[in-house]
Amino acid sequence: MQCHGRFESPNNVSLTKAKKVLNQDHYGLEKVKERILEYLAVMQLKEKNKKAGEQEDGNRGPTILCFIGPPGVGKTSIGKSIARALGRKFLRISLGGIRDEAEIRGHRRTYVGALPGRIIQGIKNVGTKNPVFMLDEIDKIGMDFHGDPSAALLEALDPEQNKEFSDHYLEVPFDLSQVFFITTGNLLDTIPPSLRDRLEVIRFSGYTEVEKINIAEKYLWKKQLKVNGLGKKELNLSKEALLEVIRRYTREAGVRNLERNLASICRKIARKIAENKSFEKEISMEQVRKFLGPPKFPHTVLEEKDEVGISTGLAWTEAGGEVLFIEVALMPGKGVLLLTGQLGEVMKESCQAAMSFVKSHFKELGLKENFAKNLDVHIHVPEGAVPKDGPSAGVAMATALVSALTKKPTLREVAMTGEITLRGRVMEIGGVKEKALAARRAGVKTIILPKDNRKDLEEIPSEVKKDLKFVFVDNLFDAFKVAIEQSRDRTESRSNKVAIKNS
Ligand code: ADP
Repeated sequence: MQCHGRFESPNNVSLTKAKKVLNQDHYGLEKVKERILEYLAVMQLKEKNKKAGEQEDGNRGPTILCFIGPPGVGKTSIGKSIARALGRKFLRISLGGIRDEAEIRGHRRTYVGALPGRIIQGIKNVGTKNPVFMLDEIDKIGMDFHGDPSAALLEALDPEQNKEFSDHYLEVPFDLSQVFFITTGNLLDTIPPSLRDRLEVIRFSGYTEVEKINIAEKYLWKKQLKVNGLGKKELNLSKEALLEVIRRYTREAGVRNLERNLASICRKIARKIAENKSFEKEISMEQVRKFLGPPKFPHTVLEEKDEVGISTGLAWTEAGGEVLFIEVALMPGKGVLLLTGQLGEVMKESCQAAMSFVKSHFKELGLKENFAKNLDVHIHVPEGAVPKDGPSAGVAMATALVSALTKKPTLREVAMTGEITLRGRVMEIGGVKEKALAARRAGVKTIILPKDNRKDLEEIPSEVKKDLKFVFVDNLFDAFKVAIEQSRDRTESRSNKVAIKNS
């Protein structure tokens, strides 16, 4: 099916304009902006070559743009800016939970209640054939007996194939080659490999506190004042108040809840104005507390007591990095290992590996032989509503276990991450930057990392690095020396047998 020219927004890729728009709409995100401008530059060149009649070589590189990162880090809003910069329309659909190929490719008309697929429906709604089309949650697309939606999706997105996209409902091929597709997701691992190979991935990571302050002051606060009809009131949110919102009312990688809380403050003030009540133009910390109620995160990790059998772990989830606590309880029994807290298979295996390590190294740990014979061990990771998986909690599990068995408290302010082997070696893990940001948010002072992750320090922003001490270990005993309170003096126990980097 051919679309006529009038259904097409003018095609003007000006890099200077794109750069200006991206900077106008977003604070920071330098690397992301750079990658996008490079992508647009290549797009522009290809277009020129095509017009000049040059043949493209058959080299099929990754061609579909994909933004990966936790929620609220600006993926959608960068997409909107790209549309604005290119002067094209913007639309967005979610692929989350799609299991049936027909949702992408439509039903044949012989089918009762047949509809075109979501892509053609989207194009129809937006009314142009070259919009910026955002497909969210590409990491949550499913597969079942109705075919493989990712294959249909690839056919729609891939510039090599989408000139003649066949939607079953339309019955005639539709040219999708003018559409600027952007896919988004939280994690890369769950995207089907055939699709992943064709994606040009741009990673968005979480924001540091300083970045959040800047984004709030320069963008979110002004936007919310305007949205809530307070644009002309010159209301000012004091720095102290803003920090209170960031630290005590949100704990997130992005700025979504921060924006929600600012919106909530604006609405309360709007109501005061509507009811002719007096209000301060400079919003203080006390007022924030009054508007938003009791803080959601009243304490940092540091404000809690060191305890026996609890360790501070670091996880990397869809929502970015997170601090999680691992609890171990011992009770008389028959040597049973009980695991709870919605742990995935890999995480359960790490618990078992930690237990086997402790049993096989009882002597070095100062435990009796057969200590586990009349003991049931329960390992629990609180916040049961959140499913958790992955091998990177191994070190934290072994630490909580050893702390419980030796009855020595762990230091709460020491967070740790690392996969373990049965011999007690600590192996490399992913998501170091996100984990470091989460640790900093939660008030952690020291992070234990696998030695092989030393190279990842480079990507951690310096303002986060200066508040954290990084300890690199390659075996569990070194981790215990740092994380478990020894009978000796605390500072001495963290002697330099272990490489301590304080940068
Ligand atoms: P995502 O799509 O990654 O979940 P959004 O694009 O919806 O996140 O971002 C949430 C809110 O935060 C939006 O209002 C967005 O404009 C704002 N925001 C996020 N990052 C930035 C930034 N770097 N500069 C300005 N605003 C930002």
